[in-house]
Amino acid sequence: MNKNEEYTVTIEDMGADGEGIGHISVNDASNPGMKVTVFVKDTVVGDEARVKIIKVKKSFVYGRLMEIIKPSPYRVRTACEYAKSCGGCFLMHMSYDKQLEYKFNKVKNCLERIGGIKDAEAYMEKVCGMEKPYNFRNKMQFPVGLGKDGKVKIGFYAGRTHSIIDINECVIGHDINTFIIKNIRKWMDAKLETDNSLVYNEELHKGLIRHIVTRIGYTTGELGICVVINGDGLKKKLCDEMTGCFIAAVEEYNALPDKDDNINASTDNDVSKNDDSYFPVSNKVSLASVSLNINKEKTNKILGDKSVTIYGRDYIKDYIGDTCFNISPQSFYQVNPIQTKVLYDKALSYANLTGKETVWDMYCGIGTISLFLAKKAKKVYGVEIIPSAIEDAKKNAIMNGLDNTEFYCGKAEEVVPKLYRENGIKPDVIVVDPPRKGCDISLLDTISDMSPERLVYVSCDPATLARDIKYLGDKGFKVKKVAVVDQFCHSVHVETVCLLSKLSEAKHHINVKVDMDELDLTSAEAKATYK
Ligand code: SAH
Repeated sequence: MNKNEEYTVTIEDMGADGEGIGHISVNDASNPGMKVTVFVKDTVVGDEARVKIIKVKKSFVYGRLMEIIKPSPYRVRTACEYAKSCGGCFLMHMSYDKQLEYKFNKVKNCLERIGGIKDAEAYMEKVCGMEKPYNFRNKMQFPVGLGKDGKVKIGFYAGRTHSIIDINECVIGHDINTFIIKNIRKWMDAKLETDNSLVYNEELHKGLIRHIVTRIGYTTGELGICVVINGDGLKKKLCDEMTGCFIAAVEEYNALPDKDDNINASTDNDVSKNDDSYFPVSNKVSLASVSLNINKEKTNKILGDKSVTIYGRDYIKDYIGDTCFNISPQSFYQVNPIQTKVLYDKALSYANLTGKETVWDMYCGIGTISLFLAKKAKKVYGVEIIPSAIEDAKKNAIMNGLDNTEFYCGKAEEVVPKLYRENGIKPDVIVVDPPRKGCDISLLDTISDMSPERLVYVSCDPATLARDIKYLGDKGFKVKKVAVVDQFCHSVHVETVCLLSKLSEAKHHINVKVDMDELDLTSAEAKATYK
């Protein structure tokens, strides 16, 4: 098979990055019936497509979609004009139900192929999707740059590149962003006429404004905007003008005709309904915080380590259920507030607390899961690497009247083993919610030594989840339940909650000399518990 050849391909499956997968029959006298796997971006399972080969590898090829000959029944019109070029919503051209099925299968395949779990589906609950998978994202990160036409570009990076697609709106974000982008673009374009140092040029690593990061508390309507600059600061006049753009954006948004009926105005003590399905969304927006983040590095990392507040407070407030949170610009906060409630409720139900338990929440961020747990547990310990997030976590505990929490700042894989060596406290339940790279082995070893009754693993990457499950499996942990929660609709990402526990039979016999052959425990994981 050669580059530039064209074939008709039926897409049979979808890969981990949302690419369609098909097979092409090739004429090979020495290997009759041979088929080569082809990966084709922008296709959907069920499509019949004309595909041009663009890269030939040893055992597979990459193809470019040239024409859809017969569209898949799962193919839909995208709600966004940038969906094909933008690097965010790779699955938007596939029906939402099919997206959920894809994510369910992605988790199942990882658990089986990487985690070594037989028939993973037997442990998996029905996938939790959104009723209306649009306008759900509370955080947006817009890169800013200069186009070839000399005008400002603000939007998103095109898939796997650093070229900026100029956008006017994003259908998965909050509508306030449309007004922010419009106003800030107009302001920067006007500035550029006299001063070309304002907009960042990534190639030359020159110019000031490199990202606009917005975050909104859906329940409170509080908006926080963080402007990332390649410099030590911005002149006061520029800060005032920029803040003026954001204030104007909020006013324009609030003046829209359907914003009169404000369900839940931004105050410090509203939203107290404690009904599982109830998710009050503030109809109006208020500008709570504008900050500058200093990032002078030549790096892909968006935020630098230092932030300075130039308007309002240095945090926004939001509620998840009836728990209130302060969120600083640098702190992690789940991006889909409606599904976060679903996710945390699931984690809480897997933790199965009665009020007597000691619990660890590892990778706790601003203490979101910790506080959910603390309401139902005797004591909760939390650990997190970002200092401002831990400060938020401590304040959040006090704000919610919870005095049974203790938070530590540092690497989970260093703090937890050290504390365990020093105090030997054995938690009844452990929750981990690591970033994509999963848990460090030394942390998994300590978790195993701690032998909790239940381990609840919240994961944003099923491949590393499965890898860690395999490791824990060899130490006697067994998967009990798995829930897939769609936090990132239209993207290929997936969130999973998994309940694990150590084999109880093994625990009963832990100090007894056992004849291994008499036991009805055949797996290596069970035997490992007796070492
Ligand atoms: N449970 C929280 C945060 C989950 S995201 C929530 O639901 O909001 C993962 C968190 O782990 C982030 O806050 C990140 O800053 C933190 N983190 C990353 N590496 C870490 C490490 N080695 N030790 C402790 N925390 C870490």
